[in-house]
Amino acid sequence: MSNPTIENVVIIGTGCAGLTAAIYTARASLNPLVLEGPQPGGQLTTTSEVENFPGFPHGVDGFQLTQNMREQATRFGARFEQLLVDRVDLSTQPRQVVAGDRTILAKTLIIATGASPRMTGVPGEKELYGGKGVTTCATCDVAVEGVAQQAVSGLRVKNVKTGAEAVLPVKGVFVAIGHVPNTRPFAPPLEVDAAGYFKTVPGSQVQTSVPGVYVAGDCVDHVYRQAITAAGMGCAAAIEAERWLAEHGG
Ligand SMILES: Cc1cc2nc3c(=O)[nH]c(=O)nc-3n(C[C@H](O)[C@H](O)[C@H](O)COP(=O)(O)OP(=O)(O)OC[C@H]3O[C@@H](n4cnc5c(N)ncnc54)[C@H](O)[C@@H]3O)c2cc1C
Repeated sequence: MSNPTIENVVIIGTGCAGLTAAIYTARASLNPLVLEGPQPGGQLTTTSEVENFPGFPHGVDGFQLTQNMREQATRFGARFEQLLVDRVDLSTQPRQVVAGDRTILAKTLIIATGASPRMTGVPGEKELYGGKGVTTCATCDVAVEGVAQQAVSGLRVKNVKTGAEAVLPVKGVFVAIGHVPNTRPFAPPLEVDAAGYFKTVPGSQVQTSVPGVYVAGDCVDHVYRQAITAAGMGCAAAIEAERWLAEHGG
């Protein structure tokens, strides 16, 4: 039987953090394997105009921006697979990444699984999300004009002290009750804080307590949560992985 392939770097997630890590590790000739998960391109694919990403004076479409990053990583040799990671085993070297019936072996891991906006769960929220009046981004989606059917026509509220109900005549609802980091498949073995964000070792934004295992972007950063900060952390994680491989044999 042939020996199983051991990847230099497996990157989990293809938002700005994972794609930037893919560009850097691919350019360093590490031939990264990138796992896309449930949302290829990440959160930015759900918005139209991104106006604050450096280098685009007139803004850029969110989907196009992540497509550009993917193309850039592919150009240097990054390989992409549509796999949802269920769990990791970090007790062995190489590390094991389990996705369905696949087990992938990797010397280093960069986990960049992002965060999902927390939803209220009230009736109608799911059906009217994205372009129909319910949004998690005030500037992106709250423009539902012309959609006569299937649009937000009001918000029913209840006074929890008196029980009195009323309907507010609004056309858009902006849900802003926080985010849920996508860290569950990895914790344990990795440590997370009370809100579920990955913990890193003191002095590093990206190094976990497990050697050669890094985290980047919205799954660890609950403060800034921007495309450019996620990309910056992806870059940092990639450079750390490259250094680890140079030291331990890449
Ligand atoms: C509507 C909206 C508009 C926004 N507008 C802006 C803006 O204008 N400017 C700005 O700077 N920021 C904006 N943001 C924030 C920005 O999108 C995020 O900060 C950024 O996308 C975070 O990147 P990330 O790589 O950390 O994670 P994400 O973009 O969340 O990507 C996570 C990736 O991980 C993958 N994944 C998750 N779980 C698994 C798993 N188990 N296995 C494999 N893969 C997995 C997903 O498929 C996805 O590819 C916006 C966000 C939203 C929601």
